[in-house]
Formats: sequence, structure tokens, C-alpha cells
Amino acid sequence: MRVLIVEDDVGIADGLAASLRHGGYAVEIRGTVAHAWDLLRAESFDAVLLDLGLPDGDGTELLRRLRASRPAGTTDATDPATPVLIMTARDAVPDRVSGLDEGADDYLVKPFDTLELLARLRVALRRSAGRSSPVLRHADLVVDPATRTVRRAGVDVTLSAREFALLMTLLQSAGQVLSKSRLESALYGEGERIESNAIEVHVHHLRRKLGNALIRTIRGVGYFAPKVDA
Ligand code: CA
Repeated sequence: MRVLIVEDDVGIADGLAASLRHGGYAVEIRGTVAHAWDLLRAESFDAVLLDLGLPDGDGTELLRRLRASRPAGTTDATDPATPVLIMTARDAVPDRVSGLDEGADDYLVKPFDTLELLARLRVALRRSAGRSSPVLRHADLVVDPATRTVRRAGVDVTLSAREFALLMTLLQSAGQVLSKSRLESALYGEGERIESNAIEVHVHHLRRKLGNALIRTIRGVGYFAPKVDA
């Protein structure tokens, strides 16, 4: 899961990024409307955390552009349906209403508790994935993103944050082959050091913990979790 933080306060942005990375998200940070927009057009994200007061404009301008974007048939990576959570110190009712009217999925007033932000982010991601049930099922696996628990045939399995992120990415695209670089960008943020065999190592650990049948390798192409009837 890739999250873009658009926030010009470096302390807030770094604190949020640390919490999100700890939760297994890959995170990018941009501090202006222009830089955030450039990145959104170049790379896809599962959610955006958006500050309103930015040095070169208002965050709602970015939201407006994103909601109006039409990526189909272009190389533009923007997705108008990307969940956006606004975070701002402005607690005036008109600001909240206009943020939601512009298409924000949720609204957090600073200072907010990181745990609350993470919970609301999960809700927004769940909603955007169109799943009414928060729990993912795959053969004998039951994965609960809210509690980050994994059970295999009724037995709890402990995964690292990266393993959990890899499992979620594969299950959410079950039946679809994902390249190593696509998986790397789902697990790691920009500037994070990635060992060249990192994905192979995580796949190896997941197979050991969850069984060989869960992840198939297409040599030279990538990996996939076979589609199964839950
Ligand atoms: Ca700001």
C-alpha cells in the first residue's frame, strides 16, 4: 500500500511517515502542491494524506485536480478515485464542508492521534477497494488488515511489517502477476535502501510461514497469488 503525504511541516510529515512505515505502508512525502501533483501524475498511490495550507497554494486545489483527472489512455498515473484524507489545523465548519465537497474522503483536524488517522486510513482504503468486509480470505488464510492478524487454518501466524505488506499486495491482486519492481514500490518508499534480493527473501519467508501454494513465481516476470474461491 503506497501513501502520499502532502505536508510542508517537516516534523509532522516525518512523524506520520514513521507511523505509516511501521504499519507496513510505503510512504512518499511532498511539501508543495506542485511537487505533489508531479508525483501523482508519475506514480500511483493507494491514498493521499493532504494538508491544506501549503506554501504554493491550497491543498484543495490538488484535490480538485486529482478528482478531475482522466488518466485513461494516457501515461498519466493519476486516479480520480484515490482516497484523500485532509489534515489541517482549520477547524472552521465551512473549511470542512468545502473539503468534503471537493471530494475528500475524510477530514482530520490537527492535532490528531496517529492511531485515529491509521484507523480512518484503513476505512478509506477498504471503501475504495469496494469490500464490505474488512477481512480478506484466501484458501485457508484469513487476513485482517485492521488488527494486522493472519490466521492459517485457524492458527495465528506472525508476520513482519514487510511480509504483511507483501501478502496484502499479492492477495489484493490475486490472479495477477506483479513484477519485482512493482512489489518493491509497494513495500518500500523512495530513498529507502532495498537489497537486490529483498522481495525474494520476503517471498521465501511468506512461503515458509503460509505454505508454498500461496505464491507462484513466473521466472523473470514476477510473482502472483493464485485466485481461489474463498
Ligand atoms: Ca501546512
